[in-house]
Amino acid sequence: MSSQKPGWSRRRLLHSAPALLAGGSVLSAQTPAPGTRAPIIIPPAPVAMREQKLLQTIPIPKQSGRGVIVLRNQRVKVINPRGKQVGDLFAFAQYSAEEFIAPAFTMTRNRNIYLQVGKGLMSNYGNPLLVLEEDTSGRNDLLYPACSGAQKPGIPASIPNCRDNMQAALRAINFPVPNHPEIVHPHNLFQNSPVIDLDGNIEVREPIAKAGDYVVLRALENVCVVVTACSSPSVVNGKEPKELLMEVYG
Ligand SMILES: [Zn+2]
Repeated sequence: MSSQKPGWSRRRLLHSAPALLAGGSVLSAQTPAPGTRAPIIIPPAPVAMREQKLLQTIPIPKQSGRGVIVLRNQRVKVINPRGKQVGDLFAFAQYSAEEFIAPAFTMTRNRNIYLQVGKGLMSNYGNPLLVLEEDTSGRNDLLYPACSGAQKPGIPASIPNCRDNMQAALRAINFPVPNHPEIVHPHNLFQNSPVIDLDGNIEVREPIAKAGDYVVLRALENVCVVVTACSSPSVVNGKEPKELLMEVYG
């Protein structure tokens, strides 16, 4: 059916159930051949960012997280004010904390282990929830989980961690916390941990992000976006955890 748009979700499939029950094929135009998957098509932006207004400025103090509801086609800019700081990015579908962007889906659907401009950030249900529109440092990581007090080796339980900070940020805006936060993995903005050889070895390096580097993401659904300024005092944050800044445009 030509009206079937990419980015459909379970809700839209449920809405299509009567047609399916009646013998109709709501996915006929885009139903992939057996053994293949439909391509991910990112809807074009109806409005350029320069035509949007700055709606909110949200400082993210070091070793903490902040959350905000972002409506479809609004944009989030995550800024690295001092450089060399990782931001763990989480995003949940507004209707359910159990649908969230999941790096394994992003990597495998985009066939790349890095985030790329123009590509979707995919949910654990296979829906693109965000699209990366700008990335001035061009370096990020999709392999690492959020730091947590229980992670070994990891940061000590005595200092804040991204997994706890993500949940605190959700509670602070009265958004439900997912049932299993330990399986909600971040898209790690500005993290520099490349695969260094064909054996798949990974090296954690200092971020290449300079002061003022930023990323811009556009929401493809109404989402709750959380960014945590990673707390680790290790090389991953240039050995000094620092603040980040989030701006919402719409
Ligand atoms: Zn962290």
